[in-house]
Amino acid sequence: MFDAPHFHDENEARKHLEAIRWPDGPVCPHCGSVGDHYRLEGTGGAKGKKARPGLLKCKDCREQFSVTVGTVFESSKIPLTKWLLATHLLCSSKKGISSHQIHRTLGVTYKTAWFMTHRIREAMKPSVDAGPLGGPGKTVEADETYLAKSPKTRKPKGLPLNAKPAPQVFSLIERGGNIRSMHLDDKNVREALFKHAREESRLVTDGSTLYKFQFMNHESVDHSKHEWARGDVHTNTLEGFFSIFKRGLVGTYQHMSLTHLNRYLAEFDFRMNTRAKLGVNDVQRTSIALKSIEGKRLTYKPVADSLQ
Ligand SMILES: [Zn+2]
Repeated sequence: MFDAPHFHDENEARKHLEAIRWPDGPVCPHCGSVGDHYRLEGTGGAKGKKARPGLLKCKDCREQFSVTVGTVFESSKIPLTKWLLATHLLCSSKKGISSHQIHRTLGVTYKTAWFMTHRIREAMKPSVDAGPLGGPGKTVEADETYLAKSPKTRKPKGLPLNAKPAPQVFSLIERGGNIRSMHLDDKNVREALFKHAREESRLVTDGSTLYKFQFMNHESVDHSKHEWARGDVHTNTLEGFFSIFKRGLVGTYQHMSLTHLNRYLAEFDFRMNTRAKLGVNDVQRTSIALKSIEGKRLTYKPVADSLQ
């Protein structure tokens, strides 16, 4: 697996990424034109400088580009071999992989590893035009959870003893389809649900008062009466997911700042949506992530050249 040439040779890495991103030939990120653009590689570039490997010139808009332009890998001096390796590691580790581990395995600084993993998580996010889950005849499971390392820290300071802390994470899964998880920050469950699930869906939840609102077709099980499943009415899929996420939180990441929680959730959602049970293997999962590196907006500054 790790002896594949694209993990060791920059040219092979670039060819590998080009084949995944451009199955029908290079696509110009400036104008969208597809096809036989000019390879500048090896020719004299601007001002007599040698064109860098992988550089192309668009036959239509005449702009230059390479396979990483417009992707989360752009403007970094990190070799592509390392990007591919980091993506593979993050895609194949069920409970995630820490920046410390990436730093040691890839021989990059911790800071670089941190930026790389967050950029890859950005690629794992669903595309901006992904609509709400569910639909007519579809069942959507919804559940929420509170993240805490131990029962002692379960309740934030200032809450009365009998008060339940506000849930931090809300997840929806379309049975037989995708999961979508989110940090609730100041949104409430109702708002998130109506935004991310189609109202024609059949909704299944537990008996929490958070779901006491009008949803066209809603069934629930009452955990307080030890009812965990009634036929296919249960939230077991999401409880299983929360359990993997929390094991990742405690075992791999130790700490996740709430600022970045949505990115970690995107990572776990991505692996769930491409899980082995659906017939996706580690190599295919990595390819799916690499196809998604394009067009993702970065919410932090691009990696500075000094980060290696
Ligand atoms: Zn173009």
